[in-house]
Amino acid sequence: MTQTSNLRESLTELHVLQTIDEEINRLTEARRELVRRAKAADLELKKHQATLDAKKKAHTDAQVAHRTKSVQLTADQEKLKTHEDRLSKASDASEYTALQKQIETSTRLIGEAEEAAIELMLAIDETKEALDAVTVTFQAFENDYKAIRRDLADQAKEIDGELKQCNAARNAQAKIVNAEWTKNYDQWRERRQITLVSMVQTHVARERSGKVITFNCGECHMTIPTQMMAEAREFAKTHRCPSCHRVLLATDVDAESDE
Ligand SMILES: [Zn+2]
Repeated sequence: MTQTSNLRESLTELHVLQTIDEEINRLTEARRELVRRAKAADLELKKHQATLDAKKKAHTDAQVAHRTKSVQLTADQEKLKTHEDRLSKASDASEYTALQKQIETSTRLIGEAEEAAIELMLAIDETKEALDAVTVTFQAFENDYKAIRRDLADQAKEIDGELKQCNAARNAQAKIVNAEWTKNYDQWRERRQITLVSMVQTHVARERSGKVITFNCGECHMTIPTQMMAEAREFAKTHRCPSCHRVLLATDVDAESDE
């Protein structure tokens, strides 16, 4: 095997590895996005739950307040009855006057308590209506939420399967790429966080003057000078894109040798 075919093969093998890594990156980002969406849905459900809890509490509070008022009303009514019994048995005028005063006070308190009880009864109805409305909204959202979570879980499962396949393919391909290029690639990725090998794109345009061939970096799309391409295609040494400095992988010249 000659030096020339070695470089060409090394770059081609590395380019395959790089393509797998790009797919792994894409899948990993898609997986992260699913987690973000799941978290957003959880947060939304929490908000709906908080609203529902607040309405439940308002309704319970109204019921408790009404019960308390009813107890007070019963006590006032019993007190009034006691005063009335004692009034009929009053022994002197001063006791009679005092009891009459107490009866007046009790009657007034009972009147107030009755009005308050009616208000609280209305509050129970109002809070029940509000609770029912929020319950409907909550249940609708909860159904949507469950569907969203199911869908996200399905997508995650699918991506996990694809990632597993990609990782297996990567392991197999990593064994093929030679040690020197593996090192170059790892260092480049660590430093630049981008792909190392750029597969050059060839464009052929037919014009009046004949065929016009242009070459572009497959990654940054910068035009590659024709002279550089001629040298890169010999694979005697590595050539880099003048713009992004990725290693150029010259492709077969089919595009320009047709006809
Ligand atoms: Zn480039």
